Amino acid sequence: MSRSADLFEASQRVIPGGVNSPVRAFASVGGDPIFIASAEGSRIRDVDGNEYIDCVSSWGPMILGHAHPEVIDAVRVAALRGTSYGAPTEGELHLAELIVQLVPSIEKVRLVSSGTEAAMSALRLARGVTGRDAVIKFEGCYHGHADSFLIKAGSGATTLGNPSSPGVPDSLAAHTLNATYNDLESVERAFEEAAGDVACIIVEPVAGNMGVIPPEAGFLEGLRSLADSNGALLIFDEVITGFRCSLGGAQALYGVTPDLTTLGKILGGGLPVGAFGGRADLMDQMAPLGPVYQAGTLSGNPLAVAGGLKTLEILLRDDPYKELAAESDRLFGALMEGATLHGEPLQANWIASMGCCFFASEPIRDYRSASTSDTVRFAAFHSGMLEKGVYLAPSQFEATFLSAAHTTEDVDTIIAAAQSMFA
Ligand SMILES: *Cc1c(COP(=O)(O)O)cnc(C)c1O
Repeated sequence: MSRSADLFEASQRVIPGGVNSPVRAFASVGGDPIFIASAEGSRIRDVDGNEYIDCVSSWGPMILGHAHPEVIDAVRVAALRGTSYGAPTEGELHLAELIVQLVPSIEKVRLVSSGTEAAMSALRLARGVTGRDAVIKFEGCYHGHADSFLIKAGSGATTLGNPSSPGVPDSLAAHTLNATYNDLESVERAFEEAAGDVACIIVEPVAGNMGVIPPEAGFLEGLRSLADSNGALLIFDEVITGFRCSLGGAQALYGVTPDLTTLGKILGGGLPVGAFGGRADLMDQMAPLGPVYQAGTLSGNPLAVAGGLKTLEILLRDDPYKELAAESDRLFGALMEGATLHGEPLQANWIASMGCCFFASEPIRDYRSASTSDTVRFAAFHSGMLEKGVYLAPSQFEATFLSAAHTTEDVDTIIAAAQSMFA
């Protein structure tokens, strides 16, 4: 038995499902999760000594690759000064200044410890300042696991929410309306359903949690004007796309400015950091200035801030975005070509350094079309790639992330491994 299998067996005795986040289980692709011992650059190594080219990037944060020497050094230096004080630090100021400088919509920002916390807090702020309760979200978009977001749509175009987890009260779910991604009419219908009570629209400006689905021309602009005409706020959840689609996130790429933005993942450079920010007049409604309450013992933790600050500084200095986009074009272009050549139905969606190959024959533009993917075929593809030394996220509906540490040869290896699966 492998050491990974031993550890998984032992973990299942003390941790539900043996994992601390359900996406880490290999439930949808079969097999057991691999226990990781270390990672460096584009590679991760498991506890049995196998090495893989990593396409998961810790689900997005590791845009510079693993164990970047400058990031590690910044965290090490910070740790030597103590790990937490529960009082403000200069690092938090510098990170906040950098966020405000880089993200177009953010005039003021507050640091938290996860994307979940960021989205949850932004929603509370939107409800607090508008005095309204309803939120419009999109089927297939993920905003962390706070109660109001764990709502799935039924089969109708717009459906008053049914909780997708026990433990979410129906009375709360009733305030969440699901609309269809890339479908402005479904948003209009949601506004009609909850007339006068919609606090905000929250959206992933590039959807990254139902595979990758870019916004179609006019979609984000349409959300901006629907929010405005209905007196609601527009929240971009840029936890994945922030510092990934561009240094200024998807909002800089598409030129649409939300009222509030949530950040996470890359912002912490692999340490736990989230943030929410936006217009100063809105952010000034947060305690201690205003009445909307939110707090965190480890918010702005000095180690996490050091890792995040160094990551953003390197991104600003090295500007790897053009090269990342070119490698992404090459990777996903080659996969589409190879699949077509062998008559394998495949839809590759990608933007910047995030992408997804759906095993489906029709273009993927929303949750419903994403759901047509052949997940059994994906499971076989996933385990085949793993055998060839390529570590993909264990679900059809997760993104592949390239990092600045992926070399031309790494991308060639990924392409060759995938091509051999199509043949
Ligand atoms: C990952 C993610 C979150 C949740 O972030 P956590 O740090 O896992 O809590 C929220 N929104 C989006 C778009 C995400 O991808």
